[in-house]
Amino acid sequence: MTLIECASAIAAGSLSALDATNAALARIESADVHLNAMVHVDAAGARAQATAVDEAVAAGQPIGPLAGVPITIKDLIAVGGQPLTAGSNMLAGYVAPRDASVIARLRAAGAVLLGKTSLDEFAMGSTNETAATGPVRNPWGLDRVPGGSSGGSAAAVAAGYGYGSLGTDTGGSVRLPAAFCGVVGLKPTYGRVSRSGVVAYASSLDQVGPMAATVRDTARLFSVIAGPCAADATSRSEPIGDYEAACELPVAGLRVGLVHSWLAGLSPEVHRAVMTTYDALLAAGATGAAIELPHAHLAVPAYYLIAMSEASANLARYDGVRYGHRAELHSSDTLDTLYARSRAEGFGPEVQRRIVMGTWALSSGYYDAYYDRACRVRRLVHDDLQTALSACDVILGPTAPSAAWPLGAHTHDPIAAYQMDIYTTAANLAGLPAMSVPVGLGDEGLPLAVQLIAGSFKETTLFQVGAAVEQRQERLSGPAALQAAIAGGQ
Ligand code: GLN
Repeated sequence: MTLIECASAIAAGSLSALDATNAALARIESADVHLNAMVHVDAAGARAQATAVDEAVAAGQPIGPLAGVPITIKDLIAVGGQPLTAGSNMLAGYVAPRDASVIARLRAAGAVLLGKTSLDEFAMGSTNETAATGPVRNPWGLDRVPGGSSGGSAAAVAAGYGYGSLGTDTGGSVRLPAAFCGVVGLKPTYGRVSRSGVVAYASSLDQVGPMAATVRDTARLFSVIAGPCAADATSRSEPIGDYEAACELPVAGLRVGLVHSWLAGLSPEVHRAVMTTYDALLAAGATGAAIELPHAHLAVPAYYLIAMSEASANLARYDGVRYGHRAELHSSDTLDTLYARSRAEGFGPEVQRRIVMGTWALSSGYYDAYYDRACRVRRLVHDDLQTALSACDVILGPTAPSAAWPLGAHTHDPIAAYQMDIYTTAANLAGLPAMSVPVGLGDEGLPLAVQLIAGSFKETTLFQVGAAVEQRQERLSGPAALQAAIAGGQ
């Protein structure tokens, strides 16, 4: 069943929301010992929400577009009354006092919140290996990373822990794990979705994004969370599109841009996946356009300088006094030694590395050479994409250079890991919407994906083209590796 089918069956009274929730909880129970994707499960809360939906349906009361649909939430987003750790020991034991704006919207739409999913610490990573609770495994290959930083959310959707999830995407963290786990992931236009109640990583880049098994399911989730929010000063009030209707529009006449420089450096199967998708869109009546992004190779260095600089400022609040883990107080302590020990104990190595580099890039004498220059490169990347999007309606490319890589492959080489974000970071730097759509399995039985990028607030175009791409595929379901593990075969 898809998310939309589940919502329809519950609304029609042919499926009880409690049964749907119990099935999702049972799946978590059997599968998560293998995946480690959940950091908190709120079984009692989820059952109570589902029962309330069943009562509303029975009483003929109006219900929302997600009524009774069980979903999971990345543990970077506040769900009132539930733990909020950001994947870090720094926030161990912290319970969110209120819902993030996106969570309030989900609740108003009737969604059932199953619990919180694992992530790279403070959303810093591409593999979900920096999570304080340990790595998450990819349901399609348990020795593979699920992608990050929203790896728990992607694995949860692929494994059938409910029908969708919310992740966050600062430089690819919704799209990369979506690609690796064979699900759909959308990074909305900057400002389209509220960031209020979301733990900040790099505020000029962060966006909450929906993940689900199909493009239409993703459209349903997005319709609920998109829109202006008085509690987020960067939120925008452009009109919301009809995202589900966009999935039904033909692609004939649309101009699809292919970035030739993005085709070098791909694994042969990802290269094939992009070209086959391009040919299929042209066969469906779209027209092709060759696109150049002359500064695309600078997106990763500019992104990491800006993201680390903003992170160093955003994470300064976790000092053990105002927020976060406090080290045991020694009689010889000064305020500075207490700060230093609290932060050394609370933050893991990747977060510490980024705070140090970001602080350095912002410091007097280095600011002009690094942070300021990165901001100017950001403008060049933005202008390249705007020029490209005046010659086409949507840019087609890869999400990642290869299928999911083995756990531990880049642990000792952070620069190599950062390079994996080469195709995703440009959309964040430019504030543009982008979607990862699965396109079948590769040679090793691991999911492959393509990425679509459109103009500001043109998410409708992404749904239109994404649905056309998806239509050609058999739907991926039931990851065999996970099934074998559950059956005791591994
Ligand atoms: N991999 C990128 C990083 O580590 C992106 C993370 C994200 O989008 N949150 O910064």
